Amino acid sequence: MNPDFEKLLRSVGPIGAGKSSYIITMGCQMNEHDSEVIAAIVQGMGFNEAESAEEADLIIINTCAVRKKPEDKVASLLGKYLALKEEKKELLIAVGGCMPQQPEAAAYLKKRFHHVNLIFGTHALPRLPALLQQCSSGRGTVIAIEEDYPDREGLPAVRRSDFQAWLPISYGCNNFCSYCVVPHVRGRERSRTPEQVSGEFARLKQAGYLDITLLGQNVNSYGHDLPDRSSFALLLRTLNEGAGKTRIRFMTSHPKDLSRELVQAVADSHSLCEHFHLPVQSGSNRILKLMNRRYTREHYLELISMIKTLVPGASITTDLIVGFPGETEEDFKQSLTLVKEARFDNAFSFIYSPRKNTAAAALDDSLSRSEKEARLTRLNNLQHKISKEINESLKGSHLEVLVEGRSKSDPAMQTGRTRTNKLVHFEAGEDLGGSFVTLEITEARTWSLIGEVRA
Ligand code: SAH
Ligand code: SF4
Repeated sequence: MNPDFEKLLRSVGPIGAGKSSYIITMGCQMNEHDSEVIAAIVQGMGFNEAESAEEADLIIINTCAVRKKPEDKVASLLGKYLALKEEKKELLIAVGGCMPQQPEAAAYLKKRFHHVNLIFGTHALPRLPALLQQCSSGRGTVIAIEEDYPDREGLPAVRRSDFQAWLPISYGCNNFCSYCVVPHVRGRERSRTPEQVSGEFARLKQAGYLDITLLGQNVNSYGHDLPDRSSFALLLRTLNEGAGKTRIRFMTSHPKDLSRELVQAVADSHSLCEHFHLPVQSGSNRILKLMNRRYTREHYLELISMIKTLVPGASITTDLIVGFPGETEEDFKQSLTLVKEARFDNAFSFIYSPRKNTAAAALDDSLSRSEKEARLTRLNNLQHKISKEINESLKGSHLEVLVEGRSKSDPAMQTGRTRTNKLVHFEAGEDLGGSFVTLEITEARTWSLIGEVRA
């Protein structure tokens, strides 16, 4: 742990001693990792982990602002927690992360939910101990949504798994896709140095982590802001050298910055998993331009064929948005044909959600909700068919998985993840969590595979 941070923790004292905390996480992997940091901070202040919000003395909601739905969920949770606060006056409620990093949202939370003690943005994370101390000793709502970027090096994290870990390599984003709030709530792109990333990687590996995912809003532009302009491909090759049997994954790749050098690094390196998450967002050049994505459909399809040539058997997943302002039936059909041509293993498709302060918020969003939903269904139906076909083609093959644990619904079954990021369910008596096992694929489903243990 960073010694300054240790000092900060000591200076606020064990204000959580004998108490417990409960953290709710919404949104992406970066938020999940931030919640691991929050968990370590509150543990460092003496809080135990509560089983539920009802039991907790401190509730922290780590929010997402990428679409309206998770923001609505925050309001409904806070409505529910009012009753808890009325029963237990000393209960502390904190709302953090991307939603309150937007000043309008912070003001709304303060005005609408008087029982919230602390509102803190993404940039306030390293100051959390002092902020919690402040709100536990005072009245009113503490608000911390400053603009300046924190130094996050050396913050502790309590990881949710003993063998899988998130490892941020950059924070923020410079791309300003016209629909996206992320650059507004996470700030400009800041890469960690190769030494910082390699150092954390080595510590994780030493601690037994076998599946490490490098995180960034756009991992492909890693290092462009560093003095020596280190490249992501080079970082991957360096990490691979010291990886041993630890698998390395990365996300997210922006198509405009995906280089041949990077794909070749995956092809050449035993630890780099053969999976690319390459969000396309739309198949229409007109919409891609309005989205400020800075690539064309043709370029994107060339990238897909380069990946398939250099890394045969790689899985490719994507994100798509339907109902972007002005998307015509013709534009939408271009997304359908792109999905057919690219043949993604999986796609995460979303209905466009207008976000304040983004460029697209000024565009006319007049397509009806029912038409947007109908497009989403058409897109999902097509993708599900393709996902199932690809999974069917894996029947009979032998794939190595890293076992994640037993199924909650059927304890006789365990689940493992392939290098290509597919889940395989299989039956085994002994607990194989955390080990590599080779499975023969016997059955294909849309979202997962069924296998049997071999050798
Ligand atoms: N940095 C990543 C993740 C961004 S958010 C990337 O560039 O892909 C994850 C996904 O949410 C995006 O890929 C996009 O498909 C979706 N998304 C972002 N803003 C959205 C909005 N306003 N409405 C609907 N979906 C959105
Ligand atoms: Fe948002 Fe685009 Fe940045 Fe991804 S690359 S976080 S979609 S602005």
